[in-house]
Amino acid sequence: MRQKIALVGIGKIAVDQHVPALRASAEWELAATFSREGAVAGVEAFSGFDALLAARPDVKVVSLAIPPQPRFEYAAKAIRAGRHLMLEKPPGQTLSEIHELQAMAKAEGVSLYATWHSRLAFAVPAAKAWLQGKRVKSIQINWKEDVRRWHPGQDWVFEPGGMGVFDPGINALSILTAILPQPVHLTAATLEYPANRQTPIAAELAFTGGVSASFDWRQEGPQTWDIVMVTEEGTATLRNGGARFFIGEMLAAEGPDQEYAALYAHMAELVRLGQSDVDLSPMLHVADAYSLGRRVVTEAFHF
Ligand code: NAP
Repeated sequence: MRQKIALVGIGKIAVDQHVPALRASAEWELAATFSREGAVAGVEAFSGFDALLAARPDVKVVSLAIPPQPRFEYAAKAIRAGRHLMLEKPPGQTLSEIHELQAMAKAEGVSLYATWHSRLAFAVPAAKAWLQGKRVKSIQINWKEDVRRWHPGQDWVFEPGGMGVFDPGINALSILTAILPQPVHLTAATLEYPANRQTPIAAELAFTGGVSASFDWRQEGPQTWDIVMVTEEGTATLRNGGARFFIGEMLAAEGPDQEYAALYAHMAELVRLGQSDVDLSPMLHVADAYSLGRRVVTEAFHF
């Protein structure tokens, strides 16, 4: 029988990914939504989250697809109401929020899944396998995209807690922390803040182990989500956000967009097994960048 799930925040990512993934899944039934304005055709929509939790005790799982700033309040309510919980990335505004949710989930005996969709991109396992046992000389992350295209009019990304360019950059860090055989830590960072905004629009990061990253939200035209790995044994590149893997110039792995289908499959498994999956290592690097980063003020940004 399919497991009933409620989806909160019917916005860009819910419409682009969550709803299609749930509709295509044999394991899930999208049974209820709460969104202040959005709705999903054919699915019961509630005008308040408390009302949803009270009216639908049969819905044991909640997925939050709202921005990070209001996330904790909703997450805490869901856990207190005994619901298993799935969080969009980044899992919250701060590390402490997630530590608290972890403790609450444990106390309530519910599953908590802090998702990292990019980790489940098709070619990530091939890159991880290729790196095993190799002597890394350098790893360069280039994550450059157009914020107007991916976050149209979403001012929250430039508000405190919105993470700025780390909102996509954390996807690269989620892949890095999944494929690296050894952990690394940040040693220096430069963060470019638009004069009228609270979060950076670009960042340059240097880590131990020869790892560096360049994040930029001002890239128009072709978009770049690449990780170039240079080792004593050869060079390989993860492209298209992890969808394609090249060894030298040769395509070694490529597959369809399966990230959200895989996230929901994993959530179903966690609930079945009574487990949680919360890895905060990508967010630690972001926190370090805010601790260590040199601030540079750049041109004002308007959507
Ligand atoms: P969004 O469209 O701006 O927000 C999603 C929905 O959340 C909104 O439509 C809104 O629905 C609800 N919401 C916004 N502010 C709220 C508040 N203060 N309180 C309660 N509900 C609020 O954002 P998104 O792009 O879908 O991103 C949501 C999350 O998914 C973020 O953490 C983001 O990093 C992640 N994500 C986004 C993308 C992407 O390409 N955009 C990709 C992967 C992951 P109502 O107005 O109807 O309440």
